[in-house]
Amino acid sequence: MAEREERTFIMVKPDGVQRSLVGDIMERFEQRGYKLVGLKMMTAPKELLEMYYHELRERPFFPKLMAYMGSGPVVAMGMDIVAQGRAMLGATDPLKSAPGTIRGDFCQATGRNVCHGSDSKASAAREIALWFRDNELSHYTNDHHTKWV
Ligand code: ADP
Ligand code: MG
Repeated sequence: MAEREERTFIMVKPDGVQRSLVGDIMERFEQRGYKLVGLKMMTAPKELLEMYYHELRERPFFPKLMAYMGSGPVVAMGMDIVAQGRAMLGATDPLKSAPGTIRGDFCQATGRNVCHGSDSKASAAREIALWFRDNELSHYTNDHHTKWV
């Protein structure tokens, strides 16, 4: 009976795409009963990445983060969850992420942590607006989810 109007921004980062983890990551959210509301593959331009990670611009790892995130295509998704999406992702540092989480199952290094998920409703709104146009987001009822999950 899950009917939510929440929106979050989930992204498979370039290492996740290179390692062919897109399907597995998306499947975890779909199987749990979350609804996909937007989906695109793109190589992010530098300007977009700088706006997206604006809060981290003074951090020492920022240049490496820009190089990593711009190194190849990413897969961006809109999903109808926020808090639980972060729980499914694990911690920023994969070595502190429990097995069963995406980062806890697939990676080892903070600088190669395969997936992003918004950390609050406010950042979800900001990130969705950066990565998707309004007409790229779908509004629909998933009957399978509303009846059975
Ligand atoms: P999260 O992705 O868990 O929300 P942050 O918002 O703090 O984490 O950082 C954004 C991304 O920047 C991280 O997912 C990671 O790819 C990178 N990052 C954060 N801290 C470090 C670090 N100490 N060294 C290298 N990369 C980092
Ligand atoms: Mg973050």
